[in-house]
Amino acid sequence: MTFAGEPTAAAPVLRHLAQLTAERDLELLEVQLLRTVQMLLCARAVFWLRIDRDTGRFALTQLRVDGDDIHVMPREDGRISQDPPEGWAADVWTTLIAALLPDPAASAEWSVAGMRVFPLRTREATLGYVLASGAHAVLDINLFSSVLEVLRNHYALLEENQRDKLTGLLNRKTFDDSISRLLRLIAATAEHRSGDERRRLMRRGGERYWLAVADIDHFKRINDTLGHLYGDEVLLLLAQVMKRSFRHDDLLFRFGGEEFVIVIRAPDMGSARIAFEKFRRNVEAFDFPQVGEVTVSLGATQIEQRFIPSALVGRADQALYHAKRSGRNVLHFFEQLAASGEVLASPQQGTIELF
Ligand code: GH3
Ligand code: MG
Ligand code: MG
Repeated sequence: MTFAGEPTAAAPVLRHLAQLTAERDLELLEVQLLRTVQMLLCARAVFWLRIDRDTGRFALTQLRVDGDDIHVMPREDGRISQDPPEGWAADVWTTLIAALLPDPAASAEWSVAGMRVFPLRTREATLGYVLASGAHAVLDINLFSSVLEVLRNHYALLEENQRDKLTGLLNRKTFDDSISRLLRLIAATAEHRSGDERRRLMRRGGERYWLAVADIDHFKRINDTLGHLYGDEVLLLLAQVMKRSFRHDDLLFRFGGEEFVIVIRAPDMGSARIAFEKFRRNVEAFDFPQVGEVTVSLGATQIEQRFIPSALVGRADQALYHAKRSGRNVLHFFEQLAASGEVLASPQQGTIELF
């Protein structure tokens, strides 16, 4: 056996895999995934159609190869049955969606509307589909399938790591990354740096984001009178009420034991108030088995680019503290409390300029 001579096709593939599995950021991994598939299949355009397991909605990431240039298009979110995303012919989109849903579990790979479709499935769910158009694979298809399996496992692991085990909401560890990404997006919008991102925000109908910390009222009593298992059940049910109360692109975190953080987009404070209030009222109205009524208090603030994530949570926490002191089961905004002098707002505290 000799190591000199013709390099095997497996060497560059393994190198790509090694790079890919080093990636810890899910969105960057999606782009890397597309680059790898594009390279391996020599495809003109590749797409990653991710299926949100909570809502059944899709998020589409596109990568197009144009000569030597590779364009990554911003992610499009939507409902599976909706109109095609930008740049897609309606009939191609309809054919594709019809082929993907209901999930044809039997086949591992197939072609539709001139595209090759590779599902990424775990035992529990379909994570999404890799689509390739203009592909003329030179690679052994078995090798390609194995590459996709490794990618799928890594992707599923990263996704799992973002979630809280009990409630399935995003976990605390994911919060800093998500909020930092959002702050960069707000900065890009403010400075007109990225036309694509700005257009995407405009299309979504607003550019302001709001953060609320929600804390269950007298949760200790539930644990003390009924036991921890009932406490856990309340957390689980409350998370479900939460998912039903907010929109699919709002970010919902379990921040600590019985503390949650919600990030929403709304054009002004009045609209943000309506969204958070809806959640508060839904919790109040929900009949928790054995426990009965459970309420939450909320403190909210606007997400402004000049603040670091911990300062934003600090402001919302101050408003939450006020909500607890003023009788619970209520929502307060930091900005309003600051304006009326009920909390102290030191303008420099926690701003980026300090660091
Ligand atoms: P307040 O209205 O002031 O928020 O009162 P509270 O009793 O909710 O607040 P406190 O922070 O004193 O108590 C929170 C309790 O939450 C204490 C802890 O035992 C309980 N807890 C934290 N994490 C979990 C969990 O994962 N499961 C269960 N069952 N209980 C938890
Ligand atoms: Mg608490
Ligand atoms: Mg509490």
